[in-house]
Amino acid sequence: MAGNTLKDAFVDEVRDMYNAEKQLLKALPRMAKAATSDELRAALESHLEETQGQVARLEKVFELLDEKPRGKHCAGMAGIIEEGSDLLQEDFEGAVMDACIIAAGQRAEHYEMAAYGTSIAWAEALGLTEVARLLTETLEEEKAADVKLSAMAEAGINDAATADDSDDEMDEDDDDTDQPATTAPARVGALARSAKRRAKG
Ligand code: FE
Ligand code: FE
Ligand code: ZN
Repeated sequence: MAGNTLKDAFVDEVRDMYNAEKQLLKALPRMAKAATSDELRAALESHLEETQGQVARLEKVFELLDEKPRGKHCAGMAGIIEEGSDLLQEDFEGAVMDACIIAAGQRAEHYEMAAYGTSIAWAEALGLTEVARLLTETLEEEKAADVKLSAMAEAGINDAATADDSDDEMDEDDDDTDQPATTAPARVGALARSAKRRAKG
C-alpha cells in the first residue's frame, strides 16, 4: 500500500479493474458457450473482444500514470463470476438459461459501470484528463453492453423463457392446462401495448 492520497486510491482502483477485466476474459467465453440464443452468444463474443481492448486501454492508463501494469484481486468481480458459474451448473435450458446468463452478465456490467464511473470522477479531480478520456471510452462500452443485454431480454428471451415455463407446468400438472401461456404477466403487458398501438393507429 502506497501513501494516503486520492492518487494512491486511484491507482488501486485501476489495478482492481485491470484484474476484473482479466477475470471477465475467462468468464465471457464460458457464458457464450452456454448461451442457446445465437444473438446472445454473438453479443457475449463481441463484448469479449471489447474487453480485450479494455485491458489494453488500462495498460495505456498505467503507462500514463507511470505505473507498472499490475492487477490487484477484484473480490467483487470474483463473487459475481462465482454466482454466474453457479447458474451455469443449474439444469436450466433454452431461453431460461439465456435469461440467467443475461442476469449474470448485467451484474458484471453494472459493477464495471460503478467502478469506471468513480474512476473517471477521481481522474478528473486529479487533473488526469487523458486518463479520464480513456476510461470514459470503456464506460461507454460497458453501458452499451448492458443496454444490449436488456434489449435482448425484453425483445424475446424473457417471453420465450415464460413460454418454456408454462410448457413444463403443463407437462407436470394437468390442472394447469386451462392456464394458457398468454396469461403470463409479460404477455399481458405485450398484449396491452399492442392493443394500445392498434387503438392509436
Ligand atoms: Fe469491461
Ligand atoms: Fe473490484
Ligand atoms: Zn463489460
